[in-house]
Amino acid sequence: MTETALFTVIRAEGTAAPSLPPFGQFIGGAFVPSTSTETVDIVNPATEEVLTQVPAGTAEDVDAAVAAAVAAKDAWAATTPRDRAAVLLKIADIIEANRELFENLEAANTGKPPAVAEDDISSAIDTFRFSAGAARAYSTLGADDYAENHTSVIHREPVGVVGVITPWNYPLLMAAWKIAPVLGAGNTLVLKPSEQTPLTTLKLAELIAAEVPAGVVNIVTGPGRVVGNRLSEHPNVDLVAITGSVGSGQKVAAAAAGSVKRVHLELGGKAPVVVFADADLEAAAKGVRSAGFWNGGQECGAACRVLVHESVADKFTELLVEEISEITVGTPGAEGAEIGSMISKAHYERVLAALDDVRKDGHTIAVGGNAIEGPGYFIEPTVITNVPAGASITSNEIFGPVVSVETFSTDDEAVTRANETIYGLAASVWTKDSARSLRVPRKLDFGTVWVNSHLVIATEMPWGGFKGSGYGRDLSSYALDDFSRTKHVMYNRG
Ligand code: NAD
Repeated sequence: MTETALFTVIRAEGTAAPSLPPFGQFIGGAFVPSTSTETVDIVNPATEEVLTQVPAGTAEDVDAAVAAAVAAKDAWAATTPRDRAAVLLKIADIIEANRELFENLEAANTGKPPAVAEDDISSAIDTFRFSAGAARAYSTLGADDYAENHTSVIHREPVGVVGVITPWNYPLLMAAWKIAPVLGAGNTLVLKPSEQTPLTTLKLAELIAAEVPAGVVNIVTGPGRVVGNRLSEHPNVDLVAITGSVGSGQKVAAAAAGSVKRVHLELGGKAPVVVFADADLEAAAKGVRSAGFWNGGQECGAACRVLVHESVADKFTELLVEEISEITVGTPGAEGAEIGSMISKAHYERVLAALDDVRKDGHTIAVGGNAIEGPGYFIEPTVITNVPAGASITSNEIFGPVVSVETFSTDDEAVTRANETIYGLAASVWTKDSARSLRVPRKLDFGTVWVNSHLVIATEMPWGGFKGSGYGRDLSSYALDDFSRTKHVMYNRG
């Protein structure tokens, strides 16, 4: 680290201690002891302080939580959409009334700067409000005479008990993306938060306990290979949904196969950003600044892989490096900080190792590329250039504040290269040519494609991937489809 380092960490002073949730597993409407006495340390990655411990749960904890969810499921499924919507609206109100508490707790557990924590909590509130309305609009359908003299009714029923496994990058928001539609569709659930970031999910359970019938929402903390695996294989869990890495999704799907349960997968991404020669280059550079570095790049849809037309590559790179050099790095509570710390020491080391590989592969680090002095797991915002087609950085998900830039010469080449990834979550296209803006997105193999934008998410629109990014759909009424089952009843009118 030199004394004239471009990036330093702005440190907030005097932040209040976050309000911690009770210790234990949330099962059957109350916090109960785990069957294990082992615990997991929960760390503030921006300061390296241990905030608290949570139980390192067991398969027996999962079994108890599933039994509670099974016991609650018929009564919950028998509620009307209006009843369920009232509960979801109440949950939204509770989060809103405790907004600051949730923001502080989330930031302390993840190292997020204030703007990201605020956005997470606002989006979580909106997800509950949207799902409340969507659940009421989600109706049974009917049709006459597809077979003579017969009337069909298509019922959308709850699936039953849903297992939910969430990641660490947006802990409460990813929980909200599942809890809201899962409950709205009439299911009960057992949720396993990331072992690194369970605090806001447990806090939510504590605050909503009086509003949600016992057993409808259950939370079990602990390691993925134990708690997540048991949820995935459990014979009484009817569907398991995971947001996480491709490797974890594969393990969940394999464990779920034994009981032939449905699986909902929201997995990793490596989003290409295709910048054509006619694009507004300044807007594209600003777009990569905000969408490539949001949440420190720990974002499945991050704008992390730029493909820019060779004729404008130098100009675009210059603009991008200028933008990225201005990014401010800070601890939670440091007003104005754009990015925070990496989630953990292990992840920080993974990102630094990926940057070592970039150097070994002979690419150019145009800005950043190093750790920033601690305490805390901070990495400089980084832009990598001189990246040829097929380089490993074009396909490996780094999940940090790192954006790479490649060049292309024709539209077809841009599309082929953008699609050359195992992932298929999100992509963006930057152009002022309206024909191109209609043509190119249709050829891209990604669940979301933005045009002249990136990472703008609307609660009413579906979010989910193709290929290695999985096939589940979160948000929108599609999430209700994913967490419902379809039954056809046919009546003979004769
Ligand atoms: P991860 O895969 O390490 O962990 C995700 C969850 O899976 C955790 O709760 C973990 O305990 C659990 N898990 C791990 N092994 C398991 C197993 N064998 N069985 C059952 N559960 C298991 O992912 P992460 O590091 O927490 O999050 C980052 C990843 O999540 C990235 O790949 C990112 O792209 C992805 N992600 C995707 C989306 C999306 O919407 N598609 C959103 C956020 C994050």
